[in-house]
Amino acid sequence: MYQYRRRLTREVVFGTLSLGGYQPIRVESMTNTHTFDTAATVAQCRRLYEAGCEIIRLTVPSERDAENLRSIREQLRRDKIETPLVADIHFSARAALKAVEFVENIRINPGNYANSQKFSNNDYSDEEYQKEIEHVRLEFAPLVDKAREYGVSMRIGTNHGSLSDRIVSRYGNSPEGMVEAAIEFARICEEMGYHDILFSMKSSNVRVMIQAYRLLVQQADAELRYAYPLHLGVTEAGDGDEGRVKSAMGIGALLEDGLGDTIRVSLTEDPVNEVPVGFAIVKKYNDFHLVKGDRGSVALKHVVESRNRLSSHALPSVTPFNPFCYQRRVASQISLAGFAVGGDGVPRVETEVQASLADSDAVFAEAVQRLAPGKPEDAIRSEVVSVRVDSESDLDRLDELLVKLGEACRSVVASTSDLALFSRLLDKVSKVRFDIIEGERFEHEMLQLLDKDRLAVAEFCFLHKETGNSIPAEILLHLAEKLRKQGVQRLLFSVLSDNVVFVYRRLVQAFNSKSINYPLIVRFSSDAADRLESVIDSSVQAGTLFCDGIGDMVALHTTLAVEDEVNLAFNILQGARIRMSKTEFISCPGCGRTYFELEKAVAAIKQRTSHLKGLKIGIMGCIVNGPGEMADADFGYVGAGKNRISLYVGRECVAENIAEEEAVDQLVALIKERGKWVDPVDAI
Ligand code: SF4
Repeated sequence: MYQYRRRLTREVVFGTLSLGGYQPIRVESMTNTHTFDTAATVAQCRRLYEAGCEIIRLTVPSERDAENLRSIREQLRRDKIETPLVADIHFSARAALKAVEFVENIRINPGNYANSQKFSNNDYSDEEYQKEIEHVRLEFAPLVDKAREYGVSMRIGTNHGSLSDRIVSRYGNSPEGMVEAAIEFARICEEMGYHDILFSMKSSNVRVMIQAYRLLVQQADAELRYAYPLHLGVTEAGDGDEGRVKSAMGIGALLEDGLGDTIRVSLTEDPVNEVPVGFAIVKKYNDFHLVKGDRGSVALKHVVESRNRLSSHALPSVTPFNPFCYQRRVASQISLAGFAVGGDGVPRVETEVQASLADSDAVFAEAVQRLAPGKPEDAIRSEVVSVRVDSESDLDRLDELLVKLGEACRSVVASTSDLALFSRLLDKVSKVRFDIIEGERFEHEMLQLLDKDRLAVAEFCFLHKETGNSIPAEILLHLAEKLRKQGVQRLLFSVLSDNVVFVYRRLVQAFNSKSINYPLIVRFSSDAADRLESVIDSSVQAGTLFCDGIGDMVALHTTLAVEDEVNLAFNILQGARIRMSKTEFISCPGCGRTYFELEKAVAAIKQRTSHLKGLKIGIMGCIVNGPGEMADADFGYVGAGKNRISLYVGRECVAENIAEEEAVDQLVALIKERGKWVDPVDAI
């Protein structure tokens, strides 16, 4: 919880490549061609290989597709492309038994593999439940036997949206159900002496996905013989920055926990685009192992006993958050620039003006760009902007800026590391951030400066270079305790660092231990020049904290363009489902089951509906898995056959087999009919 340590897993072989153990975290992708189309599939595999993809998955909906894996494989190997292939199976045991002959790994979905029947009442007696398990065993055992015979490993890949009736009847559509679904299949594997397995627990809801993986590790380590590797992914993450942010948040939060041995970023784009995003996410963790010098091929056939591992994962008595169930940290509420911060208010967005106050035109222009004063309160714009004050003359320049900004001046806050300036700024703006530089003494003066009746909010920000130690938590706790004793309410706390997950966890743990509930600003600083790296790092660091209920404001310090940085902050809050500021699009990447132009449909639907704040729209490639996988979408646009679309309201299909060219119009009409539409002008 407070420092990075990768979970040691059993090494599992994918042909010539291994994963788990001390192997680097692998990056996978999946083709979206029809697997029976050899030329198109081979061409896409080649492009993925050239992009550096380490494992390629192909959908196998039928025996015909399974049989064609032979030709695909032969062509790739003839061209010296040795990338391991994975067959992705839903439903069809016959396709699985054929596919296993031509791939290095087979993925089955325990929600739809070998489940015999649907019970109309969804109420299974113990006897019925056991009977169903026996049926699964009978159907699944031949695949296990054949996988072992061919030296093929297996991923037991649960999806939140496609749990079996049996599981839903007992556990609901929950992380607990996802875990049990996977473990039921793993028990059969272990009973048959087959241990070349790995797990995945995917959901389009990032918080559900994180909780499900953590729960799986806890339960699997307690029950199963080995610590099996994990394949990480957020399913139906969408496209563009939103898709990258959601994937980085879910995958990154777990990598920070030390979990995960292979990942797939799933985007509704050309699958080749997934590869650089995947490598950007795993880079830090793979570099860590390189630096530590413990990366290499180590056979972990007999890893330590599960009970020992479990005790090393035991939680300290006062924990900063519940890793298995989302609960927002309880913070006091203060008012800042007309916004509620803390309490049950949505997290607010602050950004920092990069221009110096010495350049009055530039600082004014940038403040206006960030604040977008004409936009309504809840529009996508920075709600508070911070300017840096380093000298006496900056104070005068700040006065000029505030005058020039007119009414928008109330959204300007300041930061400084000079105590004399801090004191004077408290009379000028609604919040002043004081940067605490490690080792400097300031406490006595600070306690005299801040009395309980002061109107401006004081933020204490610890500048932390050495990440991971407990010094920021100790110093901020000490200060918070003293100020609480003095009755000072209008306080915020933060740490400025390029790696904040563990530092904030320590801070929250320290505050919790003394029942201190001042609100927190999650600050993250990245000087990465590369845009993707900036987006990924911010999403992983800030996103992890918000997914665990930590944070009342977000402030990013990046090299991104102004609009990109502001958007990124809102995307992170939306990804954590803590602040919905735009339409939530849940779109699958498409695969060989897709028979319409998925990317084009996503673009057209976004163009018409992206102003519908908070509405969730699922856009899914196929009717076989789409309706289940889009889980909690309000409306669904789902491929139903060649250039045919079905529309859903929740999980109910309300219009079947519409021609593709009419489907977007009909979706908009449906949203209107159900009273969820607002005109774009009103929505701005
Ligand atoms: S929902 Fe999308 S990715 Fe999943 S099986 Fe259907 S088309 Fe393929």
